Amino acid sequence: MTPDELQKLYESLEAEEKTLKEQLNRIANKNPAVKGDYQIRVPNYGDEDDENTQEVVDLDRNLALEREFEDKLREIEKTKEKIKNGTYGKCENCSVEINESRLKVRPASTLCVKCAESAQLA
Ligand SMILES: [Zn+2]
Repeated sequence: MTPDELQKLYESLEAEEKTLKEQLNRIANKNPAVKGDYQIRVPNYGDEDDENTQEVVDLDRNLALEREFEDKLREIEKTKEKIKNGTYGKCENCSVEINESRLKVRPASTLCVKCAESAQLA
């Protein structure tokens, strides 16, 4: 990848990171003790039965979302680090350059096709 392409990728990662954080902030509070961790807010709509039911449904959904957002944020953070220290696009296992078309489909790829395949078989 050219430095220009890397720069563009970095910017799009930052934009995605911002969106994810906004979505997370809507359903969770930052955990002040653990960096990058969020604690889900328990919804409180009232004391009626139907309100309690809705609270449980929303809490369940938000917990799943929170996990998904946190995973994505971690992936973005890792990818950004790699761009910064110049290791982006190299396979973590065998250090070969990862195929560019593979990176385009999934910019957070950390393994080349070969290693990814053998990791799946393992
Ligand atoms: Zn490899």
